[in-house]
Amino acid sequence: MEDCLFCKIERGDIPSEKVYEDENFFVIKDINPAYVHHLLIIPRKHIASVNDVSEEDDKIFASIFTVAKKVAGILGVEESGYRVLVNSGKDAGQIIFHFHMHFLAGEKLRKL
Ligand code: AMP
Ligand code: ZN
Repeated sequence: MEDCLFCKIERGDIPSEKVYEDENFFVIKDINPAYVHHLLIIPRKHIASVNDVSEEDDKIFASIFTVAKKVAGILGVEESGYRVLVNSGKDAGQIIFHFHMHFLAGEKLRKL
């Protein structure tokens, strides 16, 4: 995906603060953090939104929560807690159409 911001970050064409990476995912600091810790867990594969996930992507997404758990360990927030969430589509406020899961922690999070 030529023009996709997160594909450009994945290729290294745009700099980012990478916190973790493996075969299927990379994790970066959100450029405009809404919380003390605000990271984005992003699949290397360009998948625009939850609507665009296919069954063949299931093997990628199988590890998304173990990645989240590793990120919690890296940040040292396993005990204090954290929230992971995915915005999909305009009503949810999705602005970047390359799937990403927000990882929020480091302070008391507003109750949803
Ligand atoms: P969403 O509303 O779920 O699409 O969230 C997109 C997120 O990407 C927002 O929280 C932005 O602050 C974040 N973002 C936008 N550009 C960058 C960038 N270059 N590096 C890191 N995060 C970014
Ligand atoms: Zn992309």
